[in-house]
Amino acid sequence: MIGFTYQNDELFCEDLAVNEIVEKVGSPAYIYSKKAFLDRYNMLQQAFSAIVDTTVCYSVKCCSNINILRELAQAGCGFDIVSGGELFRVIKAGGDPSKVAFAGVAKTDVEIKYALEQGIMLFNVESEQELENINRLAGEMGKVAPVALRINPDVDAKTHAKTTTGKKENKFGIEFAYAMQVVSRLSSFKNVVLKGIDVHIGSPVNSTEPYAEAVDRVLNFIKTCPDTIEYVDTGGGFGLLYNEENVPAFEEYAKVIAGPVKAAGKKLIIEPGRSIAGNAGILVGEVQYVKKTGVKTFYKIDAGMNDLIRPAMYDAYHFIWPVKSEEMPDCKLFPEVEGDGLLMPADVVGPICESSDVFCKGRLLPELERGDKIAIFSAGAYGFAMSSSYNSHPRSCEVLVDGSEYKVIRKRETWEDLVAAEEL
Ligand SMILES: *Cc1c(COP(=O)(O)O)cnc(C)c1O
Repeated sequence: MIGFTYQNDELFCEDLAVNEIVEKVGSPAYIYSKKAFLDRYNMLQQAFSAIVDTTVCYSVKCCSNINILRELAQAGCGFDIVSGGELFRVIKAGGDPSKVAFAGVAKTDVEIKYALEQGIMLFNVESEQELENINRLAGEMGKVAPVALRINPDVDAKTHAKTTTGKKENKFGIEFAYAMQVVSRLSSFKNVVLKGIDVHIGSPVNSTEPYAEAVDRVLNFIKTCPDTIEYVDTGGGFGLLYNEENVPAFEEYAKVIAGPVKAAGKKLIIEPGRSIAGNAGILVGEVQYVKKTGVKTFYKIDAGMNDLIRPAMYDAYHFIWPVKSEEMPDCKLFPEVEGDGLLMPADVVGPICESSDVFCKGRLLPELERGDKIAIFSAGAYGFAMSSSYNSHPRSCEVLVDGSEYKVIRKRETWEDLVAAEEL
């Protein structure tokens, strides 16, 4: 179901051996399964639509290649964007602007005008000043902007401090008390119409309670709002299986979110990113050197924190296993194989000159040699999208697999690309 399987001691993406792809495209490489993206989108759409009218807006920021956006758009998916650049990607990919929700804490005039021109579904507004500004710009363009207020529900999503967004000390959203004042002044804004209330509490949220709490607070608040409100937007943040954690099924999230929204007679917008893209992609690197010290074994690979920053930035766990191995992985990501073999503790590290450029420490792995390829799993979300060329490592390529075929959907950068925008 994640698009990746071990068969005959070797990792496959759909019907293709990962090793063979990387022999052709080089290392490091991001490899995605088209089927995994579409399956996850369809599962979410079905789980929520079974209960209430739902627009799934894929969160572009988590994995924004236009080839992937195009596949999702063709499947009927909408998009959650956080910048004008992301809207540009959506339009390029053939996405439908009338299914686009625009979040973003500091939208510029240029971005707002572009979104008004394109006719997006909803601006998720983060402050009264922003509302005034959208009202002004829409007025100048002779338009009425559909807006939702992004509420900060002061709910603890119990996730990493760097990825919680719905506590009152976070920069996101408007407090309830203040939102009430904004709503009471709405009639003075002639060029906006209040279409929704929006919350996004953080990510990943591996339980349903924080959503239940946030939805309850939002629906109570909506009772005090004008009846122009059609939508409740509950954001993204659904959990993802990285290792052994218990992640609620989509149906369980749907029950606590879609149920109450349906009862309140509203339509639902959800903004999933990680839960669609996360397990649909891996990052493959090649062992350059093995270093054994008195106390440790280091596998130094060609992929680094510039390719995948999550371990360095969020202390994130990624399951790691060789692309070819006689030992089998013991991880919930591969329920079909039984873990076995002789394992040794090792650190997998990248080439970047930062002590935080470490993918795992003391991890039990099969013995690896120079030239072996290893896969870092669950890298589809916030992987390539957060990559950089720090240390002047050209960014890796992205490959999309569809059955027994693959396509390079982003070329590997070259040394020339590194300096192309710099003038001497
Ligand atoms: C990042 C973000 C999302 C997506 O979060 P995931 O954890 O990837 O599902 C959704 N909505 C907003 C406003 C975001 O900033």
